[in-house]
Amino acid sequence: MERQRQRKQGPTETDVLVVGGGIAGLWIQQRLLSAGFTAVLVEQQRLGGSQSGASQGIIHGGVKYALGGRLTGSTEVIASMPGRWRRCIEGQGEVDLRGVRILTDSCHLWTLGSPASALASLLDSQALRRHVVPLTRHDHPACFRHEGFHGTVYRLDELVLDPVSLVRTLATPNLALMLQLQQVGKRLERSGDGFVLDTESGPLHARHLVLAAGSGNPDLLENLGLEAAPVQRRPLHQVCVTLDHPEPLYGHCVTSLTAEQPELTVTSHPTGTGKWLLYLGGRLADTGVSLTPAQQISAARDLMAVVLPGFLPHLDGWRTLRVDRVESIGEAAALPETPCINEQANVLTVWPNKMSLIPELADQVLTRLGHPAAPSGNRLAALTAALGKHPRPALSRGILEWMA
Ligand SMILES: Cc1cc2nc3c(=O)[nH]c(=O)nc-3n(C[C@H](O)[C@H](O)[C@H](O)COP(=O)(O)OP(=O)(O)OC[C@H]3O[C@@H](n4cnc5c(N)ncnc54)[C@H](O)[C@@H]3O)c2cc1C
Repeated sequence: MERQRQRKQGPTETDVLVVGGGIAGLWIQQRLLSAGFTAVLVEQQRLGGSQSGASQGIIHGGVKYALGGRLTGSTEVIASMPGRWRRCIEGQGEVDLRGVRILTDSCHLWTLGSPASALASLLDSQALRRHVVPLTRHDHPACFRHEGFHGTVYRLDELVLDPVSLVRTLATPNLALMLQLQQVGKRLERSGDGFVLDTESGPLHARHLVLAAGSGNPDLLENLGLEAAPVQRRPLHQVCVTLDHPEPLYGHCVTSLTAEQPELTVTSHPTGTGKWLLYLGGRLADTGVSLTPAQQISAARDLMAVVLPGFLPHLDGWRTLRVDRVESIGEAAALPETPCINEQANVLTVWPNKMSLIPELADQVLTRLGHPAAPSGNRLAALTAALGKHPRPALSRGILEWMA
């Protein structure tokens, strides 16, 4: 049947094939379609089921790097990200994110005791003044109004998004152009100047290939006979715990200016039961990689007793989640505030390094691909019809799914 259809209508073709349905792949597909390309996305499991669903959802503006002493000339890129995301959320940006749930419009940053003088002067510096506002005790979130807490609290100009609603909002308009397919590496090969993917609806030809498969990118490159790219998998051991408290918290506990990352990064995710899932990352998740879940939970409890004593009586049902983060290494690692693109033989392999940087990553992909060869209108309709019966990928429920 499929062969008969292809004989009549010609092969199924797309300008771009995007592999990987995390936030990077979904965002890039959306931008390509808006720019007039035809673009099909293929996902092996569920959309948002990997790093994107495990993300804490913070749209970083770069303050974290200032605290780690790692600010570079390209900091302007990350500093512009919260503004770009906000425009998209208002429906004024390059991607329509009006359906995304904002968990908070600003985070908190807190120290234990008075901040050391170098940290205090940086936090009070002109460079950070617009982004970091010291709070009087009266304005502290409820969890810091506790006799055991003696630190300083700042408000940070960084919003936090619900990653699940972000994936849903990006995916929903383009589901007809998405395929769920196992073993993509084995089904994908070069064909003339382009590529061909063996799908369940017959061969799909693509002129360009964008690999946005996170930890799956190295195998895909290898299957295509290309070199490995300068990235690494960084294992993390995150902790989740149910919070029964009316006021959630989002932010970072910082103990020193020289620390590469905050002692603890906390986000709160609605469970639909009136309680929150408190999601704990930062240094805790790095240092806990070699620990068993029970040891990691014990370490998290001990840390919470010191950095957030006000929450301790409200926590119950501790669990842990292991997930790999994929990031640039080598020279690129000095620039965590920029995304990474590797271009080889007409294949663009992308790693955002941070969810926050995906708008910049998509700009760079668009710049490299230039303009579509022909208007997409009729071609898009034919492509959608040709993919009609192929299974579509489901949406992940993010950390709620892992924790169920
Ligand atoms: C615990 C954690 C917390 C984080 N918190 C933040 C944060 O607060 N703020 C921030 O800016 N960033 C954060 N990040 C980083 C951010 O989540 C990632 O940079 C971003 O989600 C990466 O998106 P991606 O689409 O490139 O990759 P992924 O989300 O990993 O998506 C890749 C997709 O490709 C699919 N895939 C893999 N192999 C194949 C294949 N062979 N064929 C087809 N599909 C394939 C996978 O199933 C997956 O769906 C966090 C990351 C982690 C792990």
